[in-house]
Amino acid sequence: MPPPAYKHPARWANQLTTMLDHVKGSNRYPVDVEELILDYSRNVWPGDRVLAIHSEELHGFEGALVPVRENGGWLIISNSAARDGRRRFTIAHEVGHYLLHRHLLPPEGIRCKADSVGRGAGHAIEKEADEFAAALLMPSHDLRRQIDPRAKPSIDEL
Ligand SMILES: [Zn+2]
Repeated sequence: MPPPAYKHPARWANQLTTMLDHVKGSNRYPVDVEELILDYSRNVWPGDRVLAIHSEELHGFEGALVPVRENGGWLIISNSAARDGRRRFTIAHEVGHYLLHRHLLPPEGIRCKADSVGRGAGHAIEKEADEFAAALLMPSHDLRRQIDPRAKPSIDEL
C-alpha cells in the first residue's frame, strides 16, 4: 500500500481514538500506544510497519524513528532515562512522525531533541508530531471527564 495521503495530525489521532473506542470501549485509558501502533501498522502497511519499540540510553535525544531497511519497517526508540509519562509522550510523538512524515524523512530517519518533544521546537514537523501525540493521549472527550478545566496539568500528569 502506498504511504498515506496527508492527513491533519488531529484527524489521525481522532481516527485512531474512534477505532479504539469501538474495539476497547471508553474505559481504556491510559492509551496503550505501543500495542496500538504495532497492531495497526502491521495490518495496514505490513511491508512498512513499526517492527519494535525500544527504550535505550539516548545522548542528547528524547526519541527517534529509524528505518530498518533489511526488514522493511521502522524502529521507534525512546530515552530510557525519561520518566513513564514523558516516555509515553515521546513514543506517541514518534508514532506521529511515522504516520505523518515517514515518506518525507532522510534515509537515516529522524532523531528528536528534548526541546522538540512536547515543546515543538525546531522544524514544523515537530509541532505536528506533538499535536498528534497530545490528541491521541488526551482525546478531548476523556480529558473533559478527568481534568478540572481550571487546572494547568504538566506533561507527566497528562
Ligand atoms: Zn520529533
